[in-house]
Amino acid sequence: MTGTSRGDAVLVLNAGSSSLKFTLFDADHGTLRECVRGQVEGFGATLRFKARFADGRPEVSVDGGLPGASSDRVPHHASEALDGLWRWVEAQLQGRRLVGVGHRVVHGGTAFSAPVRVDRPTLAALQQLVSLAPLHQPHNLGPIERLLTEQPALPQVACFDTAFHRTQPVVAELFALPRQFYDEGIRRYGFHGLSYEFVATRLRDCAPQAFAGRTVVAHLGNGVSMCALHAGRSVASTMGFTALDGCPMGTRTGSLDPGVVLHLARERGMSLDAIEDLLYKRSGLLGLSGVSHDMRALESSEAPGAALAIEYFVYRLAREVGSLAVAMGGLDALVFTAGIGENSPRIRAAVCERLAWLGLTLDANANAGAQVAAGSGAAVRISASDSRLEAWRVPTDEELVIARHTLDLLGRSSPKHSG
Ligand code: ADP
Repeated sequence: MTGTSRGDAVLVLNAGSSSLKFTLFDADHGTLRECVRGQVEGFGATLRFKARFADGRPEVSVDGGLPGASSDRVPHHASEALDGLWRWVEAQLQGRRLVGVGHRVVHGGTAFSAPVRVDRPTLAALQQLVSLAPLHQPHNLGPIERLLTEQPALPQVACFDTAFHRTQPVVAELFALPRQFYDEGIRRYGFHGLSYEFVATRLRDCAPQAFAGRTVVAHLGNGVSMCALHAGRSVASTMGFTALDGCPMGTRTGSLDPGVVLHLARERGMSLDAIEDLLYKRSGLLGLSGVSHDMRALESSEAPGAALAIEYFVYRLAREVGSLAVAMGGLDALVFTAGIGENSPRIRAAVCERLAWLGLTLDANANAGAQVAAGSGAAVRISASDSRLEAWRVPTDEELVIARHTLDLLGRSSPKHSG
């Protein structure tokens, strides 16, 4: 096993349909330290670039293109935006050597239950999984393919959102369809696994009892899911075959009687594309409120629809906590993470209030004050000292998990990190 040397760096890419997010880490002697993170967004329209340096240098923000690049050719996909981003990242290396690139890939199917180094045959196997996640997988794979062509000697690692959940028992993965469908891959995969992996590792350090016990982690971002962690391993999750199931989200429905889909197609003549658009892009908090998909906007809105959307959101989250607790035979702790989970004391308080009967008492000051620690990465206990159930706010960092895996697979890492 070779350690990284002084001056080594790892790049993490998270490519989506409308944005390409990146984080550059120093990987000095196996210790990961974030240097800069940011994103390019607005593909096919007005490109926007943002980058924030960990050392406090002023943020870089460019509207209408990439820094230092001509704006004549607007990229339509993450893989097209990669060229310009690559030049910018190379300029930030300042003598450091890029030893590998780690990618977030949404679907590993049944074959990939751990991160993998990507070569051409592996890429072909990942392309086979596009039909399982047609809205995400092609975007994730675009930059990998581009780099395989343009930088063939540069090691690349794919890290999967599904992999962390492959410890689930079969009963948690099943749908009550004829068994052959399960065998053919129509099963519950679960997503947000990189986030849950980060949170589990953080709990091991800061909340050992919650780590060792039965914990529900609520990842509340634009995408929303929850995971039942028993002794740090995933045993159940709210997301299923796709990232559409379970909790209501910014624009996605969450659980929906499949009979509704049949009805929309048969009685209203809606096409599959129209239904997909409805379920993924026009529902959830946006659809219910008629105001916004964004929790900040809903919390500051006076519109009755906004209050109803928040009420439904909290109601469904609490119900799902109950379901996951049953999967584990009890509950010792609840953890909030991602945009809403880390930053909204109101939503955390409302969910905890609905779970008071389970023995969860919030420490209102700690819950409100947890915001002070926002951005610092600190985990904060927000339950009262005499609460039977612990509650925590734990900021997630999927990029750091990807960087760790990338170094591990390149045989270059130790588990240390900072920043
Ligand atoms: P993504 O799933 O795209 O990574 P994030 O984890 O960034 O999303 O979460 C985005 C969500 O977090 C949005 O609904 C946003 O309104 C919400 N959010 C961010 N900051 C706050 C805040 N201070 N109060 C309430 N909600 C917030």
